[in-house]
Amino acid sequence: MKKRVVIKVGSLAVTNEAGGVSSVKIRALVAELLALREKGFAPILVSSGAINSGRALIKRPEEKKMMISFQQAAAAVGQPLLMRAYVDALEALGAHGAQILVTHEDFKERQRFLNIRNTINRLLENDVLPIVNENDTVSYAEITVGDNDQLAVMITEATDAEKLILLTEADGLFDKNPKEADARRFDVVDFREDFVGVKFAAKTSVGRGGMDTKLKAVRKLTPLGVDVCIGTFLAESPLSRLLSGTGGTLFKGNPDRQTSRRKSWLSTMVKNDAWVVVDEGCAGAMLKATTSLLPIGIRKVHGVFRRGDVIQVKHRNKTIAVGITEFDHRELALVMGKKSGEISALIENAPSKVAIHKDNLLIKADI
Ligand code: GLU
Repeated sequence: MKKRVVIKVGSLAVTNEAGGVSSVKIRALVAELLALREKGFAPILVSSGAINSGRALIKRPEEKKMMISFQQAAAAVGQPLLMRAYVDALEALGAHGAQILVTHEDFKERQRFLNIRNTINRLLENDVLPIVNENDTVSYAEITVGDNDQLAVMITEATDAEKLILLTEADGLFDKNPKEADARRFDVVDFREDFVGVKFAAKTSVGRGGMDTKLKAVRKLTPLGVDVCIGTFLAESPLSRLLSGTGGTLFKGNPDRQTSRRKSWLSTMVKNDAWVVVDEGCAGAMLKATTSLLPIGIRKVHGVFRRGDVIQVKHRNKTIAVGITEFDHRELALVMGKKSGEISALIENAPSKVAIHKDNLLIKADI
């Protein structure tokens, strides 16, 4: 079987700085993706660029609160323009591509998740290139994936890919801002490494991610046994270059690949900006023997999330566990610090007496 590799391209890798699709960039990318097949890979593409492709065609709002609908409209007009460029480039080389638009919710519900998986499997069997993006037009705070680095993580897990390549401006991870003359690039990084003290280059103004969201992707996938490469799209043949290890940074996955589907799903679905902070006693109990997380141990609720989302459990600025929350962020803020017996008086039809059930909890050290 061909080795599955997910390639995520940032907006500027496929569009022009001033907005609009770049057919030149897309033609070069597509030619390289097709060449990967000859080398025994089955590429799956996660492509940003819808908003930047369409933004010149939608009037920019003056009010900040209109920005979301501006971006949604820009994505709605930009996505087909982006796809047209992909399809034209593929057809010119005798190949085909498929559009897959998803939101965070599609990975939460088992039936929808399986449909994404099965569709991508079928497309790969037929040598059709899957091209995935977030369905920006229908996503909003509670249900958005947020950025395509995270979407690429979820697609990598869903398709059992063994490698994720993040193509961006910066050529990997540097020990300081890469613009500084003596900045040193890390070639290979072990999955156990943390990156405390590393300074990143400023994120570009186009697209949502940055080095920070890329390292979050690395932290989610490498413990599971997936390799992640980060490198620049500005180099000649950027994909072959990264695959041959002649540029960028390779974050090596754990040699013991995680085989529990449930664990890998929990680790990759976790929302970057959603967490609760727990007190000392609660953290100690959870780490000693995996017990359910009770509202009484929660001190703080951060971010926007729904019932059934995977959120982080933090203590002293460290994520000690992740798990499926029984309550949304507003409900959890109401019941935090309260005894289980008090919950039903605070929330009508409360689904549970625990915040995260122990069966839905994954202690970080156990991954
Ligand atoms: N889905 C967005 C787009 O196509 C990009 C999100 C991101 O930059 O991560 O424009």
